[in-house]
Amino acid sequence: MTKYIFVTGGVTSSLGKGIISASLAKLLQARGFKVTIQKLDPYINIDPGTMNPYEHGECYVTDDGAETDLDLGHYERFLNIPTSQANNVTTGKIYQNVINKERSGEYLGKTVQVIPHITDEIKRYIRGLEVEGYDIIISEIGGTVGDIESLPYIEAVRQLRNDLGKQNGIVIHLTLIPYLSAAKELKTKPTQHSVKELLTYGIQPEILVCRSEHPITEDIRKKLSLFCNVDINSVIESRDASTIYDVPLLMLKENLDTTVLRKLGLDKRNEPDLTAWKNFLGKLKNPLHEVKIGVVGKYIELQDAYKSIYESFVHAGAENETIVNVINIHSEDLEEEGSLKQLESLNGILVAPGFGERGIEGKLVAIKYARENKIPLFGICLGMQCAAVEFARNVLKIADAHSAEMDSKTPNDIIHLMEDQKKVKNKGGTMRLGAWKCEIEPDSIVGRAYGTNVIYERHRHRFEFNNKFKADFISKQFMPVGIHKERDLVEIIELKDHPWFVGVQFHPELKSTVENPHPLFTSFVRAAIENRKNNKKEIVQSVNEEA
Ligand code: GLN
Repeated sequence: MTKYIFVTGGVTSSLGKGIISASLAKLLQARGFKVTIQKLDPYINIDPGTMNPYEHGECYVTDDGAETDLDLGHYERFLNIPTSQANNVTTGKIYQNVINKERSGEYLGKTVQVIPHITDEIKRYIRGLEVEGYDIIISEIGGTVGDIESLPYIEAVRQLRNDLGKQNGIVIHLTLIPYLSAAKELKTKPTQHSVKELLTYGIQPEILVCRSEHPITEDIRKKLSLFCNVDINSVIESRDASTIYDVPLLMLKENLDTTVLRKLGLDKRNEPDLTAWKNFLGKLKNPLHEVKIGVVGKYIELQDAYKSIYESFVHAGAENETIVNVINIHSEDLEEEGSLKQLESLNGILVAPGFGERGIEGKLVAIKYARENKIPLFGICLGMQCAAVEFARNVLKIADAHSAEMDSKTPNDIIHLMEDQKKVKNKGGTMRLGAWKCEIEPDSIVGRAYGTNVIYERHRHRFEFNNKFKADFISKQFMPVGIHKERDLVEIIELKDHPWFVGVQFHPELKSTVENPHPLFTSFVRAAIENRKNNKKEIVQSVNEEA
């Protein structure tokens, strides 16, 4: 039988429910349990695909083409197993299903209500993963207890615990213990109130995980135990960690996994096997090299917009025993005079994915600089498309070369709308999404990095390289080295005569995990190490006559 752990949040948002859930799952997985995590998001969008990064951070894409919450990225990076459509539920999806059922007559004769119809649908979704035979499913409930929009989820958890029996579904409440510096004291009152709030909905949490900047003393534990009605061993401290990848080990020290297993009435099985994890941490914390890599994007002020890219650098850095200092560079800043200074000390440049015109010219500046100065360049999705446009303008000398996304009138649409996108009207869930096959040229940078000829990578785009220009590009050593044969789509390009210049139409960052760093990120960081060794040659800044 599948057992459930529901994770709720109290006091404030951004306490890191995703990291706590992923860390707990890692420990249970390392003991031999089959575990997965699902995220229940209380917003009315069907998925985050239609939100911008200011609203929602990165949109994470699964193999089966779901546009999901970025927490699913943490789940995959920690557990090293793929998630799917079923791992992310939103209020939008729940309501859409209920309304469709109402229209088709499934509730004929009845008034359709939040309880029981919406809560039944939530419960159905939560239990949808059971068919895959998990021992334990962790359900993370988005938002903070007390939010109006998360109420139906909390109510569904209350009902589900009654349906399953309390021992088969426990609640972990993640909360904040603030430190008042004037009083030099940790304060438990906000937590007491948030547990009280949960109690008014009929839920007594079994475990409290307490986020804090200071150690939670025995006294504080006793107080929390007394006022919140949890046993003292179930008050778990979660101090700020220097890296999120320390959290599983910190939770192990606090016995979160064994406490959970005891509450669920499960045997502890083996001691957790964390060999690979500790190996990774060992390399992460004892680097031999250091490189500087610029990430050029238009959302660099947001911590979450390029989450998976940043994490992929952590994995690839550890793999190479290297600190990767990521330097965030605003693409619009590169449009200013004299801005190339920002690029001068970099050992590698990554041009980020994105949509729309803002910052494009700055991305082209960064690419030109990397190409001419032989600095490793990694273009991802829009970054690859920009690499093609830059090459067309400055090497093939096509002055009005552009992507049709930015200039729908240009006759030189180096990047154009994919054929099957032309009939698409609705915006939600209609891009080319999910994992697609790509065949790669073995004798290439990417061929050597992957060590295989066939790959499956995840996509999220509407535009593609225009094959009309392929021969011109090849004639100047800009090589298509990865192709989706079924539809003849260029998925990877490489420049010959450059140490490392790679553009990919897919998102490799979505498949990098602690235990399987992505080969392209690993290879890119290695190229950056080489660049640093061979530095510093004269910097080239050619003048573009067309400009
Ligand atoms: N905007 C581009 C497209 O739709 C690239 C998308 C991306 O970078 N994810 O094709």
